[in-house]
Amino acid sequence: MIKKCIGCGVELQGEDKNKRGYLPQSVLEGESNELYCQRCFKIKNYGEYIPVEMTRDDYKEEVKKVLPEADVALAVFDIIDFEGSFDDEILDILREMDSIVAINKIDLIPDGKHPSEVANWVKERLGEEGIAPLDIAIVSSKKGYGTSGIFKKINYFYPNGANVFVLGVTNVGKSSIINRLVGKNIATESKYPGTTLKSSKKKLTNANITLIDTPGLIPQGRFSDLVCEKCNLDIVPSGEISRKTYKEGKDRVIFIGGLVKMRVVSNEELKPIFSVFASKNVTYHDTNLEKAKEMEKEGRIDLFSPPCEKCAEKYKQEKIVTEHFTVESGEELVFKGLGWVSVKRGPLEIEITYPEKAEIIIRNGLIKPKR
Ligand code: GDP
Repeated sequence: MIKKCIGCGVELQGEDKNKRGYLPQSVLEGESNELYCQRCFKIKNYGEYIPVEMTRDDYKEEVKKVLPEADVALAVFDIIDFEGSFDDEILDILREMDSIVAINKIDLIPDGKHPSEVANWVKERLGEEGIAPLDIAIVSSKKGYGTSGIFKKINYFYPNGANVFVLGVTNVGKSSIINRLVGKNIATESKYPGTTLKSSKKKLTNANITLIDTPGLIPQGRFSDLVCEKCNLDIVPSGEISRKTYKEGKDRVIFIGGLVKMRVVSNEELKPIFSVFASKNVTYHDTNLEKAKEMEKEGRIDLFSPPCEKCAEKYKQEKIVTEHFTVESGEELVFKGLGWVSVKRGPLEIEITYPEKAEIIIRNGLIKPKR
């Protein structure tokens, strides 16, 4: 019988240490069927990072295999990096089949928004993408909030049981949610992207529901994917989110880490008021145009983090572009995989310098400014 890793779903093998699914032959030949490959074992027990490449084609192949047996999709999105959780492969599947959408990391939302407000906002945003899920579950897999709601929703729509196709890009908390649903710490939950390699099935013990866990895809356009693993951990929202509010006039410059440079262009009598949100490990720096130029000329990377010294060189080699944005009151300017700027008093005319590979969009605000 072929044995599979219960962490990542890869087929186990005892021959080649350097290939996927390795486990010492002696363990593999033992009685147990609850086995982890050496890679998952190390991630689970020592937090060790062992990078593995999964291409988009690998992903499509995997999805093609799973689709015919799935009744419903359970898509996981990160509310703190909502647009950074989008990927065309996943959105296309959601446009075509019934789905339940889980919105995770609700514990990190500043201002303690009511779940129904978040659900309405998500519904509207997904509607703009042509997606109408059967239902939306608001959850925090870290705090254990709302995961039983997912279970109830599946049961409600599929009282006779279902094969549930679980989808999500890396880092949204897909593994954490599966672990909560299964009730045991099985899927290899990790702070590092790309840890689930192959689809794997997990049957829930108390219902006729089988979860089919697909690999997490690394989407395009996230700032967090342009830096090293350590900086990635600093940027990905898992701990606290920080907010800093500015009231700035023309030519003030704000750096978000060394990742983004924002120059206020607005020339209004009333200065625009806006708040910047990002992981608390991302530093901000505001200054005037002259000083900003000096700092850049002197290469004062010590002021800006992330990127760290190690990946700053690589980051600088990205093609950098400068673009002008106009953001109205109540709107947000989103840096995928990094954070967002919420405009209280607009319009905010702003010039952004950033790597062309990263994506910036304007959306209707999630965090509405207080009156
Ligand atoms: P996956 O790549 O989608 O499977 O994501 P993981 O389950 O490995 O989680 C990615 C990171 O987000 C880890 O650092 C988790 O601790 C963190 N995380 C997951 N769910 C939550 C949540 O509900 N709240 C917070 N604050 N962090 C979370």
